[in-house]
Amino acid sequence: MAFPDTRPRRLRRTSSIRRLVRETTLSPDNFIFPLFVRPGKGEKNEISSLPGQFHFSVDMLAREAEEIAKLGIPAVILFGLPEKKDEVGSEAWAPEGVVQKAIRTIKKAVPELTVAVDACFCEYTTHGHCGVMLEGHLDNDATLENLGRAALSYARAGADVVAPSGMLDGFVGFLREGLDEDNFDKVAILSYAAKYASGYYGPFRAAADSTPALGAWKRDFSRSSL
Ligand SMILES: [Zn+2]
Repeated sequence: MAFPDTRPRRLRRTSSIRRLVRETTLSPDNFIFPLFVRPGKGEKNEISSLPGQFHFSVDMLAREAEEIAKLGIPAVILFGLPEKKDEVGSEAWAPEGVVQKAIRTIKKAVPELTVAVDACFCEYTTHGHCGVMLEGHLDNDATLENLGRAALSYARAGADVVAPSGMLDGFVGFLREGLDEDNFDKVAILSYAAKYASGYYGPFRAAADSTPALGAWKRDFSRSSL
């Protein structure tokens, strides 16, 4: 049916009718709270690209996690700023890395809060790209191996969800297989790798100190951060 037989305006007429037919609602249930974790003690520093968000040291996380749970937000996602960066981002799978410590701290303080972990290497590499670089390009399969190591270390620390964001070919299947083999079949995978031409991602890159050294994205970011 088309206009004039159908008049959807009728269903938008009053607030109570709109409530009755609305298909999309937003509640705290829909949110995952990002937490940026850095080395140190007693640190809670505001992130200039994300006002109202902070870089926390691990010892400051328990209180923050309790407050997040009290607000009714069911989950957090962790981003790690490592002590030191290297060419391949090996701090991402260090058993005593900041993120691994953060997972243990939060699960101990608020066990019911779902802990997801961003699984990527751009925060951990000196060049800011999402994995192993080979002759100016990202080596997909070498990066997959490292991603598997990182996912296992997050699962061992007690993460509920591993959330890869690096746009690697085949990564969900690869991670699922590796986690299942180590009896982490209850750990969920949340890929949020799709990127669009939007301004949302730049502030996260700055907050995670992971602006890449090469490529179109770098140019876009430089522009959007002016
Ligand atoms: Zn990345």
